[in-house]
Amino acid sequence: MNNSIQKYIVIAGAGMTGMMSALKLRKMYPHFPILIFDKSDQPGGMYGSISYKEGHIFDFGMHVIYESCNSEVDDLYLEILNREEWHIYPGNEKDIAGLFFNGKLQEYSHYVDLRSFPKEQQLQYFGGFFDNLGKNHQFNSIKAMDFLRSQFGEYISDKIHSKILFNLYHKEPEDINVFAIKATALERIILFDKEIMLDLMKSDILRSKIAFPDQINLPPYRTNTQKALYPKKFGMSYFFDRFTKLLKDLNIEILNGTSLKHLHRDKSRITQLELCDREGKTHDISVERLIWTAGWHSLAPSLNVNISDLKMDKGQRIVYINLVLDKPPVMGKLYYFYCYDKGFATFRVTNYSNYCPGAGGKGNYPVCVEFWPSRIGLDPDKTSEEQLIKAALDEIKHFGIIKDHQIIFSKAENIKSEFPMPSNLNFNNFRELRNRVAQENIINLIVSGVMAEDGLFFLPDILNDAFKKISTIRLD
Ligand SMILES: Cc1cc2nc3c(=O)[nH]c(=O)nc-3n(C[C@H](O)[C@H](O)[C@H](O)COP(=O)(O)OP(=O)(O)OC[C@H]3O[C@@H](n4cnc5c(N)ncnc54)[C@H](O)[C@@H]3O)c2cc1C
Repeated sequence: MNNSIQKYIVIAGAGMTGMMSALKLRKMYPHFPILIFDKSDQPGGMYGSISYKEGHIFDFGMHVIYESCNSEVDDLYLEILNREEWHIYPGNEKDIAGLFFNGKLQEYSHYVDLRSFPKEQQLQYFGGFFDNLGKNHQFNSIKAMDFLRSQFGEYISDKIHSKILFNLYHKEPEDINVFAIKATALERIILFDKEIMLDLMKSDILRSKIAFPDQINLPPYRTNTQKALYPKKFGMSYFFDRFTKLLKDLNIEILNGTSLKHLHRDKSRITQLELCDREGKTHDISVERLIWTAGWHSLAPSLNVNISDLKMDKGQRIVYINLVLDKPPVMGKLYYFYCYDKGFATFRVTNYSNYCPGAGGKGNYPVCVEFWPSRIGLDPDKTSEEQLIKAALDEIKHFGIIKDHQIIFSKAENIKSEFPMPSNLNFNNFRELRNRVAQENIINLIVSGVMAEDGLFFLPDILNDAFKKISTIRLD
């Protein structure tokens, strides 16, 4: 392909952000050439799936689509698949999440339940909580522990949350950014039974700190209309296959297995990209606009922005342990649960059949354990697949979600990716990185996707940000 004359809106990354951006751009500019490239052979990024020759399919852990509460974004999902092809979960059904905490599996809530401690200890937690209630709070905290202390008082946050943060990230809790609170929902605790909570929840302050201990029956205090969507046919790759077809039908070119070799700039304007596909073939693309959704760390060097001094804290390496069981795991209605206790490598367990009944049935129930081997001292690159699977099975037996189950299929996927470390150092480095790229004053570049702005990680926030930025584009 030699498109050095025809100018393109080029999108780097065929994850959800890149593909949704392409669809929005096509609506804004029905005829302008648009091209997406992605280094991976498959679309979807972290929202994609893995298919096995045995016929089993798995997403990368739990990935349902939460609406952005912006009709411009959310209506697009119903253009990609028809309404009847989606499971649409409103209200309390949109996110049924639990926790393995203090030796117990909580099916009723993913907030830490302090009622699971002995009575004497509970009294100390009550004391710590209420003693803190009337104090002057610092709500614009940067550090997770500062936020937690202002939310629950020193006693609870030091005894409970600092341990949870350490167990998860193996990093000094004082160095963890407030983003970690959002990452696994640490902003509330459970202190009281339902009857008392029904009364206490009339207070906005208490409701923002104490959780109702029965998520399915949570009274509708907040009128949040956000829903969750998941295709009725299991595997997000099904959605991305349809999405790819739709984009191609709309004359959007998609180059998978393709990376950026060289970026040409004329001072403040990106003029041309040299892309290289998996066969080593080069594609020269003239650029009208570049929408970068593929991460700062590959963008900065292409722009000759030096970031070698910005040393990042490494995150925990993830191995996806994909299992098919002969019967449903024993986890009630939970879509997933996190594990906060010490001595486990499990980050999260997802039971796909609970939000996509089509995933299971007929003696085949897929389950994914997002496993962070270094939490139990295992090097994911030096541990055999068999050992990793055994370690994960031992843990989920301990959680009580498999008992006399048969394991029909098991596979450990070591995709060499890390869960981003939410340390203050990393947040500062991302800020510095953004500043350095911004100083280049490139007028035809938009950066969106994960960490494009401070704390951008979850899909609804990312898509709202991306669509806002794209709306500013004016082509002559
Ligand atoms: C372990 C984990 C769990 C998560 N769980 C949730 C969750 O439960 N809910 C939620 O909302 N969000 C979750 N997220 C965040 C979620 O993955 C992102 O919100 C979402 O994937 C953002 O989509 P994206 O397209 O911006 O990025 P990605 O999905 O990361 O896609 C980026 C694309 O860019 C491509 N790419 C990367 N580098 C290059 C390059 N140099 N050249 C070309 N292409 C490149 C990649 O191949 C990929 O296809 C999780 C993230 C992780 C890491």
